[in-house]
Amino acid sequence: MPLGIGCTAKPGKSRNNKTGSWRVYYPVMDNAKCTGCGTCQLICPEGCITGSGKTLQIDLDFCKGCGLCAEECPDKAKAISMHLEDK
Ligand code: SF4
Ligand code: SF4
Repeated sequence: MPLGIGCTAKPGKSRNNKTGSWRVYYPVMDNAKCTGCGTCQLICPEGCITGSGKTLQIDLDFCKGCGLCAEECPDKAKAISMHLEDK
């Protein structure tokens, strides 16, 4: 079975992969600003950004909050911002 781009394993293979409980920052995507370039999907080490075009979603159950997606989202879009978890 082919794997998704940018990851070594599909998210959701194991309950142990759920990182939402210890994440410090979480990403928020503004789909209105998204250009659909796909960079965030390519770079996410967890492969937890799904969808296509400008209608992407982030599965926070598997996001570890590394911020790579927000960092690499192109300057002209800046469609992803990181926010401190309220725990
Ligand atoms: S913060 Fe990291 S793990 Fe979460 S969606 Fe962005 S790149 Fe993926
Ligand atoms: S990197 Fe930014 S502009 Fe590109 S698809 Fe992801 S959210 Fe959209």
